Amino acid sequence: MSPVHLLGAGPVGCLAAILLKQRGFEPIIHERRPDSRQEGAYGGRSINLALSNRGFLALAAAGLETEIQSVGLPMPGRLVHDRQGRVQFQAYGKNGQAIYSVSRAGLNYKLMDLAESQGVQIHFESRCTDVLLASQHLQLEQHGEVRNVPYHVLLGTDGAYSALRYALQKTDRFDYSQSYLPHGYKELHIPPTSAGEFAMDPDGLHIWPRGQYMMIALPNPDRSFTCTLFQPYEADPERGVHEGLQDLRSDQEVLRFFERDFQDAVPLMPTLLDDFRKNATSSLVTVRCSPWNYGPTCILGDAAHAIVPFYGQGLNCGLEDVRILMELVDQAGLHPESDQDAWANVLETFATTRKPDGDAIAQLALDNFIEMRDKVADPRFVFQKKLEARMQEQFSGQWTPLYTQVTFEPLTPYQQAYRNGQVQQALMDRIIDRIHATLPQGAYDNMDLIDPIIQQELHAAGQC
Ligand SMILES: Cc1cc2nc3c(=O)[nH]c(=O)nc-3n(C[C@H](O)[C@H](O)[C@H](O)COP(=O)(O)OP(=O)(O)OC[C@H]3O[C@@H](n4cnc5c(N)ncnc54)[C@H](O)[C@@H]3O)c2cc1C
Repeated sequence: MSPVHLLGAGPVGCLAAILLKQRGFEPIIHERRPDSRQEGAYGGRSINLALSNRGFLALAAAGLETEIQSVGLPMPGRLVHDRQGRVQFQAYGKNGQAIYSVSRAGLNYKLMDLAESQGVQIHFESRCTDVLLASQHLQLEQHGEVRNVPYHVLLGTDGAYSALRYALQKTDRFDYSQSYLPHGYKELHIPPTSAGEFAMDPDGLHIWPRGQYMMIALPNPDRSFTCTLFQPYEADPERGVHEGLQDLRSDQEVLRFFERDFQDAVPLMPTLLDDFRKNATSSLVTVRCSPWNYGPTCILGDAAHAIVPFYGQGLNCGLEDVRILMELVDQAGLHPESDQDAWANVLETFATTRKPDGDAIAQLALDNFIEMRDKVADPRFVFQKKLEARMQEQFSGQWTPLYTQVTFEPLTPYQQAYRNGQVQQALMDRIIDRIHATLPQGAYDNMDLIDPIIQQELHAAGQC
């Protein structure tokens, strides 16, 4: 039996290896870094991410869904902080539907442990420096030594700066684009109170929307919060950005900025200045490329579609890649003795059918940045959310909000959710315009007057 080689022991690589092992294959993972479980690669810091139904559905195949969800913290909505420190809750879905704040390290360790316990080999400090696609060899550097390893099947789960993708870029007719946001991000920290309690409400994802920039905070099980500031690198006073990240050099500049824009958070951040100085500023990239496959090799996860984090879907999408690839493996009846042509066919089907979903979530994530940093504070947006909740309740089956389709309906492909979202936004704009044009402002809460307008517009749009 020839092994299936994987590059990268991130969550996507580990889940793929676990599910391949379950099917009798022999996966071997080559991971550039030392074993982070021993080395404490996360430096004891709590770095979290939001996991939702697509990720959980994929993890269920490895039997990890319940365990990961039980240690995650449910966030049923946004907690939006205005400049005066007032906080408004906006539900993400209905009936307590929630996304979960999950430890990034904890999830990765759990997946590595499970992979190894099932017999998957993970070779740490084994960096892929090149992939020789024509001769089907991997070039691996381990402890200063470089060796060429032949492969039968190769999956590139090596993240946004994938070595396999670099090799694919050198092939004929490979489309590639990478674009950076003008914003960078910096992780900061809100510790528990002296009484050991959460310093803010833990039941939600906190957002301080400030137009062109924002800060968010997700709760951790140790009752701290991990905050992330998303801020342009450069000032743009005409658009309300009076200082860029690169201008925040001295402690006074940092403090002045935070006290002006995130006043209610400052007293909760005793290590703000230290964190700001010590924690790296990182950039935000979107990578689009095609084709993801080449013979018996394929990229998946961030290697194929690195996206900005504003829909909380990057990892969810990567884990979903694995679920969908395994469905195709099963449908094609691939087994450990299958030849390379059989694998190449499956990988081609995966790459061509899944690529439009990668493009759709990349665009949705970019669009959602504007929603998070700006629109959540806009009265029209808040009214739209109220109408959406009403429409979902009263006209169930005819209106499922875009956020719900993306986050809570894992069987709706991203590309379909994206298309639905475009149609729905046009319809919603018509409904709101008609409400504004025909009802007095005092009646915007009167659903007896609003329901008929919604019904007529749904009818006119053929959705009723
Ligand atoms: C600020 C921020 C917030 C985010 N928040 C969320 C969120 O809330 N929800 C969500 O779903 N997603 C979120 N994401 C996205 C998420 O982090 C990624 O989508 C996810 O980590 C991708 O998983 P992966 O396994 O594909 O890649 P990675 O996690 O990047 O893992 C790749 C692995 O490959 C290894 N590797 C790299 N190069 C080589 C090489 N040459 N040879 C061998 N090994 C190699 C790396 O060391 C790493 O272990 C966020 C991202 C950012 C930046």
